[in-house]
Amino acid sequence: MSDATTTTTRLRDELRRRGQRVTPQRLAINAVVESLGRRHVTVDEVFALASDRVPGISLPTVYATLDLLEDVGLLRRVATEGGAAVFDTRTDAHHHVACRRCGAIVDIDATVDSAELLRAAESMGFIPDDTQVVVRGVCAVCAATPRAA
Ligand SMILES: [Zn+2]
Ligand SMILES: [Zn+2]
Repeated sequence: MSDATTTTTRLRDELRRRGQRVTPQRLAINAVVESLGRRHVTVDEVFALASDRVPGISLPTVYATLDLLEDVGLLRRVATEGGAAVFDTRTDAHHHVACRRCGAIVDIDATVDSAELLRAAESMGFIPDDTQVVVRGVCAVCAATPRAA
C-alpha cells in the first residue's frame, strides 16, 4: 500500500504539472481516500468523510476531485450497473464480483486474457487504457438469505 506522503506528493506534483491549483479540498479528499486503505467506496461515502474534514465541501467538488484522482492514477473506477459511481483505492489491474441484491463489490485476483478484447477494441479505433471484468450475480450471503416477500 502506498503511504500518504507519497500520494500527496504525487497529487501536488500532478496538479502543478497541469497548472491546476493545489486546494485544501483536493488534498483533504485525497487524505480521506488514503485513510480508507484498500476499499471500494461510493462518492456519497467520500463526501460524508470529507465533510468532517472540510465543513461545507460540496458534492460536485468531491465528484470532480475523485475524477481527478482517477485521472492521476490514485483511484480506479469500478464498472457498475446503474447506481452510484464506485471508486477503488486499489489501482493495480484486478477484477470484481458484484452482487445484484446487496451491491457488494469484492476483488477477484484471476488472470484474464484480454488480448482478444483489446484487439477488437483497437480495431474499432478505440484506445484502451483499462480492462476490467465484473462478474455479476448473487453473493453467498444473499444466496443464503430468502428474499423478502
Ligand atoms: Zn449480496
Ligand atoms: Zn477492487
